[in-house]
Amino acid sequence: MKKTSRRTRQREAPGHLATRVIHAGQSPDPATGAIMPPIYATSTYVQPALDRLSSYDYTRAINPTRSALERNLADLEGGSRAFAYASGMSAIAAVMTLLKAGDHAVVSHNVYGGTFRFFERVLRDYGLDFTWVDTSDLTQVRRALRKSTRMLYVETPTNPILTLTDIAAAAKISRHHDLIFVVDNTFMTPIFQQPLSLGADIVVHSTTKYLNGHSDSLGGAVIVNKAAHAERMAFVQKSVGAVLSPFEAWLVLRGIKTLALRMERHDRSGRVIAAWLAGRRGIRKVHYPGLPSHPQRALARRQMGGFGGMISFDVGSYDRAKRFLGRLRICALAESLGGVETLISQPATMTHASVPEADRARLGITPGLVRMSVGIEDPQDLIADLERGLAAIR
Ligand SMILES: *Cc1c(COP(=O)(O)O)cnc(C)c1O
Repeated sequence: MKKTSRRTRQREAPGHLATRVIHAGQSPDPATGAIMPPIYATSTYVQPALDRLSSYDYTRAINPTRSALERNLADLEGGSRAFAYASGMSAIAAVMTLLKAGDHAVVSHNVYGGTFRFFERVLRDYGLDFTWVDTSDLTQVRRALRKSTRMLYVETPTNPILTLTDIAAAAKISRHHDLIFVVDNTFMTPIFQQPLSLGADIVVHSTTKYLNGHSDSLGGAVIVNKAAHAERMAFVQKSVGAVLSPFEAWLVLRGIKTLALRMERHDRSGRVIAAWLAGRRGIRKVHYPGLPSHPQRALARRQMGGFGGMISFDVGSYDRAKRFLGRLRICALAESLGGVETLISQPATMTHASVPEADRARLGITPGLVRMSVGIEDPQDLIADLERGLAAIR
Protein backbone atom coordinates (compact mmCIF):
# COMPACT_ATOMS: atom_id res chain seq x y z
CA MET A 1 0.00 0.00 0.00
CA LYS A 2 2.11 2.83 -1.23
CA LYS A 3 0.86 6.26 -0.49
CA THR A 4 1.96 8.93 -2.93
CA SER A 5 1.68 12.36 -1.47
CA ARG A 6 0.68 14.75 -4.21
CA ARG A 7 1.52 17.54 -1.85
CA THR A 8 5.23 16.84 -2.12
CA ARG A 9 5.25 16.91 -5.91
CA GLN A 10 6.30 20.52 -6.34
CA ARG A 11 5.49 21.80 -9.80
CA GLU A 12 8.33 23.97 -11.00
CA ALA A 13 6.83 27.39 -11.69
CA PRO A 14 8.61 29.30 -14.43
CA GLY A 15 9.28 33.00 -14.43
CA HIS A 16 9.68 35.94 -12.12
CA LEU A 17 7.93 36.46 -8.78
CA ALA A 18 5.15 38.55 -10.38
CA THR A 19 4.29 35.52 -12.53
CA ARG A 20 4.81 32.90 -9.83
CA VAL A 21 2.49 34.61 -7.33
CA ILE A 22 -0.30 33.85 -9.81
CA HIS A 23 0.69 30.42 -11.11
CA ALA A 24 2.99 28.60 -8.67
CA GLY A 25 1.42 25.52 -7.12
CA GLN A 26 -1.80 25.87 -9.05
CA SER A 27 -3.04 24.17 -12.18
CA PRO A 28 -6.56 24.04 -13.65
CA ASP A 29 -8.86 21.65 -11.78
CA PRO A 30 -8.50 18.24 -13.49
CA ALA A 31 -12.25 17.48 -13.24
CA THR A 32 -13.61 20.69 -14.78
CA GLY A 33 -10.74 22.86 -15.95
CA ALA A 34 -11.75 25.53 -13.41
CA ILE A 35 -8.88 27.99 -13.52
CA MET A 36 -9.13 28.79 -9.80
CA PRO A 37 -8.40 26.14 -7.19
CA PRO A 38 -11.78 24.96 -5.85
CA ILE A 39 -12.55 25.25 -2.13
CA TYR A 40 -12.51 21.60 -1.09
CA ALA A 41 -14.95 21.85 1.80
CA THR A 42 -14.62 18.29 2.99
CA SER A 43 -13.40 16.66 6.17
CA THR A 44 -12.71 13.24 4.70
CA TYR A 45 -12.16 11.38 1.41
CA VAL A 46 -13.50 8.06 0.09
CA GLN A 47 -10.93 5.28 -0.21
CA PRO A 48 -10.96 3.25 -3.46
CA ALA A 49 -10.81 -0.09 -1.55
CA LEU A 50 -9.81 -1.47 1.82
CA ASP A 51 -6.33 -2.29 0.60
CA ARG A 52 -5.94 0.84 -1.52
CA LEU A 53 -5.34 4.19 0.14
CA SER A 54 -5.68 7.45 -1.75
CA SER A 55 -3.20 10.29 -1.20
CA TYR A 56 -5.99 12.08 0.64
CA ASP A 57 -7.30 10.69 3.92
CA TYR A 58 -8.45 13.45 6.29
CA THR A 59 -8.43 17.26 5.99
CA ARG A 60 -6.41 17.89 9.14
CA ALA A 61 -3.55 16.02 7.43
CA ILE A 62 -4.15 17.13 3.84
CA ASN A 63 -6.60 19.27 1.89
CA PRO A 64 -6.21 20.13 -1.82
CA THR A 65 -7.00 23.84 -1.38
CA ARG A 66 -4.52 24.15 1.48
CA SER A 67 -1.97 22.13 -0.51
CA ALA A 68 -2.25 24.59 -3.42
CA LEU A 69 -1.45 27.46 -1.06
CA GLU A 70 1.39 25.51 0.54
CA ARG A 71 2.95 24.74 -2.87
CA ASN A 72 2.58 28.40 -3.84
CA LEU A 73 4.28 29.64 -0.65
CA ALA A 74 7.10 27.08 -0.90
CA ASP A 75 7.80 28.27 -4.43
CA LEU A 76 7.74 32.01 -3.57
CA GLU A 77 10.06 31.63 -0.56
CA GLY A 78 12.36 29.21 -2.41
CA GLY A 79 11.72 26.39 0.09
CA SER A 80 11.06 22.70 -0.43
CA ARG A 81 7.81 22.57 1.56
CA ALA A 82 5.36 24.97 3.19
CA PHE A 83 2.70 24.41 5.84
CA ALA A 84 -0.34 26.63 6.42
CA TYR A 85 -1.82 27.21 9.88
CA ALA A 86 -4.85 28.85 11.44
CA SER A 87 -2.81 31.89 12.53
CA GLY A 88 0.69 33.29 12.50
CA MET A 89 0.96 32.32 16.16
CA SER A 90 0.07 28.67 15.45
CA ALA A 91 2.72 28.64 12.68
CA ILE A 92 5.27 29.90 15.21
CA ALA A 93 4.04 27.32 17.74
CA ALA A 94 4.66 24.56 15.18
CA VAL A 95 8.24 25.76 14.61
CA MET A 96 8.91 25.77 18.36
CA THR A 97 8.08 22.03 18.55
CA LEU A 98 11.50 21.52 16.95
CA LEU A 99 12.89 22.29 20.44
CA LYS A 100 12.81 20.07 23.53
CA ALA A 101 12.76 20.83 27.26
CA GLY A 102 16.19 22.12 28.27
CA ASP A 103 16.86 23.81 24.93
CA HIS A 104 17.72 27.48 24.70
CA ALA A 105 16.95 30.00 21.95
CA VAL A 106 18.39 33.45 21.20
CA VAL A 107 15.64 35.81 20.03
CA SER A 108 15.43 39.36 18.64
CA HIS A 109 14.43 41.54 21.59
CA ASN A 110 11.65 43.37 19.80
CA VAL A 111 9.79 40.62 17.98
CA TYR A 112 6.03 40.71 17.55
CA GLY A 113 4.42 41.07 20.99
CA GLY A 114 2.47 37.82 20.65
CA THR A 115 5.72 35.95 19.99
CA PHE A 116 7.28 37.42 23.13
CA ARG A 117 4.21 36.51 25.20
CA PHE A 118 4.10 32.95 23.82
CA PHE A 119 7.80 32.28 24.44
CA GLU A 120 7.95 33.87 27.90
CA ARG A 121 4.56 32.99 29.34
CA VAL A 122 3.78 29.64 27.71
CA LEU A 123 6.94 27.91 26.47
CA ARG A 124 9.03 28.71 29.57
CA ASP A 125 6.67 26.43 31.50
CA TYR A 126 7.68 23.59 29.15
CA GLY A 127 11.37 23.92 29.99
CA LEU A 128 12.52 26.14 27.12
CA ASP A 129 14.79 29.08 27.85
CA PHE A 130 15.18 32.32 25.92
CA THR A 131 17.71 35.14 25.77
CA TRP A 132 16.47 38.37 24.22
CA VAL A 133 19.12 40.42 22.44
CA ASP A 134 19.39 43.14 19.85
CA THR A 135 20.11 40.86 16.88
CA SER A 136 21.09 43.87 14.72
CA ASP A 137 24.31 43.63 16.77
CA LEU A 138 25.68 40.14 16.12
CA THR A 139 28.22 40.33 18.96
CA GLN A 140 25.21 40.28 21.28
CA VAL A 141 24.03 37.10 19.54
CA ARG A 142 27.44 35.45 19.90
CA ARG A 143 27.64 36.44 23.57
CA ALA A 144 24.23 34.93 24.31
CA LEU A 145 25.10 31.48 22.94
CA ARG A 146 25.25 28.56 25.39
CA LYS A 147 25.89 24.85 25.15
CA SER A 148 22.12 24.32 25.12
CA THR A 149 21.39 26.91 22.38
CA ARG A 150 19.50 25.26 19.51
CA MET A 151 17.77 28.14 17.76
CA LEU A 152 18.26 31.71 16.58
CA TYR A 153 14.93 33.46 16.02
CA VAL A 154 14.93 36.78 14.20
CA GLU A 155 12.38 39.28 12.97
CA THR A 156 13.67 41.79 10.42
CA PRO A 157 12.79 44.59 10.01
CA THR A 158 11.41 44.95 13.53
CA ASN A 159 8.15 46.46 14.55
CA PRO A 160 7.76 49.45 14.96
CA ILE A 161 11.32 50.90 14.81
CA LEU A 162 12.31 49.00 11.62
CA THR A 163 15.71 47.85 12.81
CA LEU A 164 17.36 45.26 10.55
CA THR A 165 19.30 42.11 11.27
CA ASP A 166 21.91 41.00 8.73
CA ILE A 167 20.37 37.66 7.68
CA ALA A 168 23.42 36.30 5.80
CA ALA A 169 25.77 37.11 8.70
CA ALA A 170 23.37 35.64 11.27
CA ALA A 171 23.08 32.51 9.08
CA LYS A 172 26.85 32.09 9.23
CA ILE A 173 26.77 32.13 13.04
CA SER A 174 23.87 29.68 13.03
CA ARG A 175 25.66 27.25 10.73
CA HIS A 176 28.83 27.44 12.78
CA HIS A 177 26.96 26.61 16.01
CA ASP A 178 24.50 24.18 14.42
CA LEU A 179 21.44 26.29 15.28
CA ILE A 180 18.04 26.27 13.62
CA PHE A 181 17.83 29.77 12.12
CA VAL A 182 14.24 31.07 11.91
CA VAL A 183 13.23 34.37 10.26
CA ASP A 184 9.78 35.95 10.60
CA ASN A 185 9.34 37.43 7.11
CA THR A 186 5.87 38.91 7.64
CA PHE A 187 6.88 42.54 7.05
CA MET A 188 8.81 42.09 3.78
CA THR A 189 7.16 39.03 2.19
CA PRO A 190 9.11 36.98 -0.38
CA ILE A 191 8.65 39.84 -2.86
CA PHE A 192 11.23 41.96 -0.99
CA GLN A 193 13.19 39.50 1.16
CA GLN A 194 14.02 35.81 0.78
CA PRO A 195 15.63 34.62 4.01
CA LEU A 196 16.13 31.00 2.82
CA SER A 197 18.34 32.18 -0.05
CA LEU A 198 20.38 34.17 2.50
CA GLY A 199 20.97 31.06 4.62
CA ALA A 200 17.99 30.85 6.99
CA ASP A 201 16.54 27.38 7.68
CA ILE A 202 12.92 28.33 8.28
CA VAL A 203 10.66 31.24 7.36
CA VAL A 204 7.48 32.02 9.28
CA HIS A 205 4.63 34.28 8.21
CA SER A 206 1.49 35.75 9.55
CA THR A 207 -0.48 35.48 6.28
CA THR A 208 -2.98 37.74 8.06
CA LYS A 209 -0.86 40.68 6.96
CA TYR A 210 0.62 41.30 3.48
CA LEU A 211 0.25 37.79 2.01
CA ASN A 212 -3.54 37.79 2.31
CA GLY A 213 -3.43 41.57 2.08
CA HIS A 214 -7.10 42.40 2.51
CA SER A 215 -7.58 42.33 6.30
CA ASP A 216 -10.22 39.64 5.94
CA SER A 217 -8.57 36.45 7.20
CA LEU A 218 -6.26 35.16 9.91
CA GLY A 219 -3.56 32.65 9.02
CA GLY A 220 0.07 31.63 9.21
CA ALA A 221 2.69 29.66 7.34
CA VAL A 222 6.00 27.90 7.85
CA ILE A 223 8.38 27.41 4.91
CA VAL A 224 11.33 25.04 5.24
CA ASN A 225 14.08 23.66 3.02
CA LYS A 226 15.41 20.77 5.09
CA ALA A 227 13.78 17.33 4.87
CA ALA A 228 13.94 16.77 8.65
CA HIS A 229 12.16 20.05 9.35
CA ALA A 230 9.52 19.29 6.68
CA GLU A 231 8.83 15.90 8.20
CA ARG A 232 8.43 17.34 11.68
CA MET A 233 6.17 20.18 10.46
CA ALA A 234 3.90 17.74 8.57
CA PHE A 235 3.71 15.49 11.62
CA VAL A 236 2.95 18.37 14.00
CA GLN A 237 0.41 19.90 11.60
CA LYS A 238 -1.51 16.63 11.65
CA SER A 239 -0.94 15.97 15.37
CA VAL A 240 -1.80 19.41 16.75
CA GLY A 241 -4.35 20.31 14.09
CA ALA A 242 -4.13 24.11 14.02
CA VAL A 243 -4.52 24.04 10.24
CA LEU A 244 -5.79 26.73 7.90
CA SER A 245 -9.35 26.00 6.71
CA PRO A 246 -9.96 25.37 2.98
CA PHE A 247 -11.93 28.61 2.68
CA GLU A 248 -9.19 30.71 4.28
CA ALA A 249 -6.54 28.93 2.19
CA TRP A 250 -8.51 29.96 -0.90
CA LEU A 251 -8.73 33.55 0.35
CA VAL A 252 -4.98 33.73 0.92
CA LEU A 253 -4.30 32.21 -2.53
CA ARG A 254 -6.57 34.87 -4.01
CA GLY A 255 -4.78 37.58 -2.05
CA ILE A 256 -1.33 36.39 -3.14
CA LYS A 257 -2.25 36.76 -6.82
CA THR A 258 -1.83 40.53 -6.40
CA LEU A 259 1.05 40.36 -3.90
CA ALA A 260 3.75 41.59 -6.30
CA LEU A 261 1.54 44.43 -7.50
CA ARG A 262 0.50 45.41 -3.99
CA MET A 263 4.03 45.30 -2.54
CA GLU A 264 5.28 47.48 -5.39
CA ARG A 265 2.60 50.07 -4.52
CA HIS A 266 3.11 49.78 -0.72
CA ASP A 267 6.82 50.37 -1.33
CA ARG A 268 6.41 53.29 -3.76
CA SER A 269 3.91 55.06 -1.49
CA GLY A 270 6.01 54.22 1.57
CA ARG A 271 9.03 55.99 0.06
CA VAL A 272 6.99 59.05 -0.95
CA ILE A 273 5.27 59.38 2.43
CA ALA A 274 8.42 58.72 4.50
CA ALA A 275 10.30 61.41 2.55
CA TRP A 276 7.37 63.81 3.00
CA LEU A 277 7.18 63.12 6.76
CA ALA A 278 10.95 63.58 7.18
CA GLY A 279 10.70 67.16 5.96
CA ARG A 280 7.78 68.19 8.20
CA ARG A 281 7.89 70.52 11.17
CA GLY A 282 6.36 68.93 14.27
CA ILE A 283 7.76 65.48 13.52
CA ARG A 284 10.84 64.51 15.47
CA LYS A 285 12.00 61.31 13.93
CA VAL A 286 10.97 59.13 10.99
CA HIS A 287 11.93 55.45 10.92
CA TYR A 288 11.98 53.97 7.41
CA PRO A 289 14.72 51.77 5.89
CA GLY A 290 14.59 53.73 2.63
CA LEU A 291 15.44 57.11 4.17
CA PRO A 292 19.07 58.31 3.98
CA SER A 293 18.83 58.87 7.76
CA HIS A 294 18.19 55.16 8.46
CA PRO A 295 21.34 53.80 10.16
CA GLN A 296 21.22 50.53 8.19
CA ARG A 297 20.27 51.76 4.75
CA ALA A 298 23.19 49.94 3.10
CA LEU A 299 22.11 46.63 4.66
CA ALA A 300 18.51 47.33 3.63
CA ARG A 301 19.60 47.80 0.01
CA ARG A 302 21.66 44.62 0.18
CA GLN A 303 19.17 42.18 1.66
CA MET A 304 15.81 43.69 0.69
CA GLY A 305 14.39 44.23 -2.78
CA GLY A 306 12.25 47.13 -1.54
CA PHE A 307 11.67 49.08 1.66
CA GLY A 308 7.98 48.28 2.07
CA GLY A 309 5.09 50.24 3.48
CA MET A 310 5.78 50.32 7.22
CA ILE A 311 6.80 53.70 8.66
CA SER A 312 6.97 54.98 12.21
CA PHE A 313 7.49 58.56 13.36
CA ASP A 314 7.50 60.56 16.55
CA VAL A 315 5.14 63.49 16.98
CA GLY A 316 6.51 64.36 20.43
CA SER A 317 4.06 63.26 23.11
CA TYR A 318 0.98 61.19 23.89
CA ASP A 319 -1.17 64.31 23.83
CA ARG A 320 0.10 65.36 20.42
CA ALA A 321 -0.33 61.82 19.07
CA LYS A 322 -3.94 61.84 20.29
CA ARG A 323 -4.71 65.14 18.58
CA PHE A 324 -2.89 64.09 15.38
CA LEU A 325 -4.67 60.74 15.13
CA GLY A 326 -8.04 62.25 16.02
CA ARG A 327 -8.01 64.46 12.92
CA LEU A 328 -7.32 61.75 10.30
CA ARG A 329 -10.12 60.74 7.92
CA ILE A 330 -8.54 58.14 5.60
CA CYS A 331 -5.93 56.45 7.80
CA ALA A 332 -7.86 54.16 10.16
CA LEU A 333 -6.83 53.93 13.81
CA ALA A 334 -6.27 50.18 14.23
CA GLU A 335 -3.76 47.48 15.10
CA SER A 336 -2.51 45.09 12.41
CA LEU A 337 -0.90 45.92 9.08
CA GLY A 338 -0.36 44.83 5.51
CA GLY A 339 -3.86 45.40 4.13
CA VAL A 340 -4.88 47.45 1.10
CA GLU A 341 -6.17 50.18 3.44
CA THR A 342 -3.88 52.45 5.44
CA LEU A 343 -3.83 51.69 9.17
CA ILE A 344 -2.28 53.89 11.79
CA SER A 345 -1.61 53.20 15.46
CA GLN A 346 0.16 54.40 18.56
CA PRO A 347 2.28 51.38 19.62
CA ALA A 348 2.82 52.46 23.27
CA THR A 349 -0.87 52.05 24.18
CA MET A 350 -1.90 49.64 21.42
CA THR A 351 0.36 46.92 19.92
CA HIS A 352 3.09 47.30 22.55
CA ALA A 353 0.99 48.08 25.64
CA SER A 354 2.06 44.80 27.29
CA VAL A 355 5.77 45.67 26.96
CA PRO A 356 7.03 47.12 30.29
CA GLU A 357 7.56 50.89 30.09
CA ALA A 358 11.32 50.69 30.69
CA ASP A 359 11.67 48.21 27.81
CA ARG A 360 9.54 50.41 25.58
CA ALA A 361 11.81 53.38 26.31
CA ARG A 362 14.89 51.28 25.54
CA LEU A 363 13.37 50.17 22.22
CA GLY A 364 12.48 53.75 21.27
CA ILE A 365 8.73 53.20 21.58
CA THR A 366 7.93 56.64 22.98
CA PRO A 367 4.40 57.89 23.82
CA GLY A 368 4.59 60.14 20.75
CA LEU A 369 5.50 57.33 18.34
CA VAL A 370 2.97 56.66 15.59
CA ARG A 371 3.14 53.62 13.29
CA MET A 372 1.71 53.62 9.83
CA SER A 373 0.96 50.69 7.52
CA VAL A 374 0.76 52.49 4.20
CA GLY A 375 -2.04 51.07 2.07
CA ILE A 376 -2.49 51.21 -1.68
CA GLU A 377 -4.70 54.30 -1.78
CA ASP A 378 -3.55 57.32 -3.79
CA PRO A 379 -0.47 58.55 -1.87
CA GLN A 380 -1.42 62.21 -2.38
CA ASP A 381 -4.71 61.57 -0.57
CA LEU A 382 -2.78 59.97 2.29
CA ILE A 383 -0.42 62.95 2.47
CA ALA A 384 -3.42 65.32 2.55
CA ASP A 385 -4.80 63.24 5.42
CA LEU A 386 -1.50 63.40 7.35
CA GLU A 387 -1.42 67.16 6.67
CA ARG A 388 -4.84 67.40 8.40
CA GLY A 389 -3.38 65.57 11.39
CA LEU A 390 -0.32 67.82 11.52
CA ALA A 391 -2.50 70.93 11.41
CA ALA A 392 -3.97 69.77 14.73
CA ILE A 393 -0.57 69.85 16.47
CA ARG A 394 0.99 72.88 14.88
C1 LIG B 1 0.76 39.53 13.31
C2 LIG B 1 2.10 38.97 13.41
C3 LIG B 1 2.31 37.68 13.96
C4 LIG B 1 1.17 36.85 14.52
O1 LIG B 1 0.29 36.47 13.50
P1 LIG B 1 -1.29 36.21 13.73
O2 LIG B 1 -1.74 35.86 12.35
O3 LIG B 1 -1.87 37.48 14.26
O4 LIG B 1 -1.42 35.08 14.69
C5 LIG B 1 3.60 37.20 13.99
N1 LIG B 1 4.65 37.93 13.54
C6 LIG B 1 4.47 39.17 13.02
C7 LIG B 1 5.66 39.93 12.55
C8 LIG B 1 3.20 39.73 12.95
O5 LIG B 1 3.07 40.97 12.45
